[in-house]
Amino acid sequence: MKNVVVLGSTGSIGTSTVKVAEDLPQRIRLIGLAAGNNSELLVEQALKHQPMAVSLNDSSKMAELRGKLGDTCEVLAGAEGLMRLATMPEADIVLIAIVGTAGLQPALAAIRAGKDIAVASKEILVMAGEIVMSEARKHGVKVLAVDSEHSAIFQCLDGKPPESVRKLWLTASGGPFRDERAWPREKFSEITVENALKHPSWVMGRKITIDSATLFNKGLEMIEARWLFDIEMARVDVLVHPQSIVHSMVEFVDGSLLAQLSTPDMCLPIQYALTYPERAVNERVQTHFPKLGSLTFEEPDAERFPSLTLARRAGDVGGTLPAVLNAANEVAVDAFVNRKINFPQITELVSRVMDAHTRVSHPTLEQILASDAWARSEAAKAI
Ligand code: MG
Repeated sequence: MKNVVVLGSTGSIGTSTVKVAEDLPQRIRLIGLAAGNNSELLVEQALKHQPMAVSLNDSSKMAELRGKLGDTCEVLAGAEGLMRLATMPEADIVLIAIVGTAGLQPALAAIRAGKDIAVASKEILVMAGEIVMSEARKHGVKVLAVDSEHSAIFQCLDGKPPESVRKLWLTASGGPFRDERAWPREKFSEITVENALKHPSWVMGRKITIDSATLFNKGLEMIEARWLFDIEMARVDVLVHPQSIVHSMVEFVDGSLLAQLSTPDMCLPIQYALTYPERAVNERVQTHFPKLGSLTFEEPDAERFPSLTLARRAGDVGGTLPAVLNAANEVAVDAFVNRKINFPQITELVSRVMDAHTRVSHPTLEQILASDAWARSEAAKAI
């Protein structure tokens, strides 16, 4: 039995995690749940799973929450609530699925409290991968990937060291604008928010869906892989695979390739992270190859999707630059969703902010957070 804390339990990954816990009641016990502001769903989850504590970011709803939950569990709020949940003495693993950068401090707190962490918020590793991984080594805890691509690579690597790897191949669906005939570069400025929110194979949160349309999601995943698996950017590459069946691959130094495949369902990588190193019986995911027919692969179009080049540069150079890329992108996506900038301007804005940044190498957490704040204000000024 694993005692699991879920930070971000009402979001897309969080609700899938709750499903996995319901599938495996003998293995997973949800002892802490934190949500942003969806108090209704948090109450529903808490009444069903009886965690020891819950936390809501919106502290104005605390009294209401206490009223509904009575004394069945402890009710916390805000950043302090997150920190309390992340360090619960009873927790074996903390799954972090909070959108954006708010998960960083709780992730570090969990590691320092000796907890394994399962990372669904890729910002944590993009911004502070060097610090997070070295803290994890220092405290002897595992950093498990929840992202489907990284889970695939983790499963394929199966403990092999970086020296045995020729290349990590991250697969990308290519997003809604993959087809160059339907969406040539000239038409990119006409892309609407509605167009961009239509993802072909995964149902996800808003920010990540826009990131999948620009391919920034894949760029962030390249940086995430670089840190998780301790492999420099030159050995991390992207392959467009529209069917999203091959979740990623490892090419070994002898030329052999291992891939992890299944019909796309986030419950699978979540379950693997929570039951690792074991595999638990679950009938939820079924893959029928005859129905799938063919699997195809293509090279990503660097010209229409400059985000990949920007991310490679950020990951290569390192220091505070990945945090700057990430922060500028968050502001740009927000501006796009609010119809203040057009689609190509997302990458233009990120590129401009990156160019203006004076990088700090091997930064402290404070320097990373300062670069994040700087990039946000630079990006906001440019809009
Ligand atoms: Mg992914």
